[in-house]
Amino acid sequence: MDNKELARLLFPDVTLTMEDMEARYPARALPEGACVTRIGPSPTGFVHLGNLYNAIIAERIAHQSGGVFFLRIEDTDNKREVEGAVDIIINAMGYFGVRFDEGAVSDGDKGDYGPYRQRQRREIYHVYAKHLVEIGLAYPCFMTAEELDEIRAKQEANKETTGIYGPYAEASRSLTLEQIRENLRQGKPWVLRYRGTVTDERFTVDDAIRGPQNNVRNYEDFVLLKSDGIPTYHMAHVIDDHLMRSTHIIRGEEWLPSLPKHVELFRAFGWPLPIYCHTATLQKMEGASKRKLSKRKDPELALAYYQQEGICQNAVWEFLLTLLNSNYEEWRLANPGVSYLDFPFSLSKMSGSGALVDLEKLNDVSKSVISAMPADEVYRCLLDWCNVYNQPFAGLLTRYRERALLALNVGKNSAKPRKDLVNWKQACDFLRFYFDETFQVEDELPPEIDETTRRTFVARYLESYDHGDDPAVWFDKVKALTAELGFAVKPKDYKKNPELYKGSIVHTTNLLRIALTGRANAPDIWEVSHVLGEEVVRSRLEKLL
Ligand code: GLU
Repeated sequence: MDNKELARLLFPDVTLTMEDMEARYPARALPEGACVTRIGPSPTGFVHLGNLYNAIIAERIAHQSGGVFFLRIEDTDNKREVEGAVDIIINAMGYFGVRFDEGAVSDGDKGDYGPYRQRQRREIYHVYAKHLVEIGLAYPCFMTAEELDEIRAKQEANKETTGIYGPYAEASRSLTLEQIRENLRQGKPWVLRYRGTVTDERFTVDDAIRGPQNNVRNYEDFVLLKSDGIPTYHMAHVIDDHLMRSTHIIRGEEWLPSLPKHVELFRAFGWPLPIYCHTATLQKMEGASKRKLSKRKDPELALAYYQQEGICQNAVWEFLLTLLNSNYEEWRLANPGVSYLDFPFSLSKMSGSGALVDLEKLNDVSKSVISAMPADEVYRCLLDWCNVYNQPFAGLLTRYRERALLALNVGKNSAKPRKDLVNWKQACDFLRFYFDETFQVEDELPPEIDETTRRTFVARYLESYDHGDDPAVWFDKVKALTAELGFAVKPKDYKKNPELYKGSIVHTTNLLRIALTGRANAPDIWEVSHVLGEEVVRSRLEKLL
């Protein structure tokens, strides 16, 4: 077989060479040790937590080393493509503060190593496909779906490894140039296959997360180009990551079984291997056992879930960093108040298994993160979220900006700051009582206080209320009034001798708390009153008269 002739026959339009490609995409001018990483999501419309998990690793590895982090859209499977999906990816990553140096942007590309959408790189892949044909490592295969099914059925019946390799590739491999020419003339669809070697030879690749991976060399005649001329993931990955000069391939462990194909191709082209980093699949607990997160069963697999719930960006990072690096929590305790970006992230501290997504843990992390954030930052993040997901509340936050800022500061200055806010969605609900527009009395007034006593208490409270009182003076007045109306100032006195009192200060302060916030469980009454302002305080209490 004249391979050069076959290559010309299959790729008549390809005039560029591998050297031309090397010249177009030269080695990057980066300092020694700088890493080049990427994420390569498919535009399916569904961005999952694993995408962010891998993105954080890739972003850290690149930016910590002064390297480059880019976004490549892996759209070779057009059956799965959804309109607007590229924007969904960019927007989801943007929400979580993942910034790319180059790659696909909403309306095109940014950077010198593009195009960054694989379908636009067709002519590039064809240069390499042609080369593999020329050197006898690739050939066209005209087998129909029925023929492939037959082979598979036979292999399954004989309990053989399925796929196209060795004897099963023979018929296609041995077509003559004339037969191929005739098939092409008849317009028969074909795919380009790699010519694998059936062998026991093994190779080892050092995975930066999992350590040495020993495998049998690829034996399969796997597909390089599909019948529409678009490459498979295997072909596209190898060519793109070589030309885009990726130094580290951070991707899910589901790609481990394909590693022999990729190593085979890198070797066929004579290129150095990048460093592979296969990450663990995200899991969750179900009862006492772990299972993979499922798209169907677990809303928390979708990144959109975290956006819709308004999980704070920093919380998601902190949470994922605790999953990613075993020493993160310890580092955080030793370095409170600094950015998570100061953490020295390392691939060697990653584990090849057990990335357990626990939403309760995420909520705990989130509460701490929000509680440690200054009020103006909380305000900004909350408003950003509300602008997209809760516009009426965004309106209130904007109209009552000063009040909202004060509200977000409540409890922040105490020794143990309150952790009332879990996420932005819950925050809207929690903060509702600060605005008359959304205020509601949700809890029942304390039944220990009968109606007459309640009216007297509230009337007397309002009479003596001075908005300028400091917390101590204010509380002395509350205590005096409590005692005067026959309630115990010390809850334990009431407990000891309930017959001597109508109730205790717990009940009188609860009355005030519910009247002012609608809830028995709310922040400090004096602080809340000073956020609401005297007018609102008086009007809410007057409703109880
Ligand atoms: N498109 C692949 C995926 O979504 C990317 C794998 C890679 O990063 O190489 O799984």
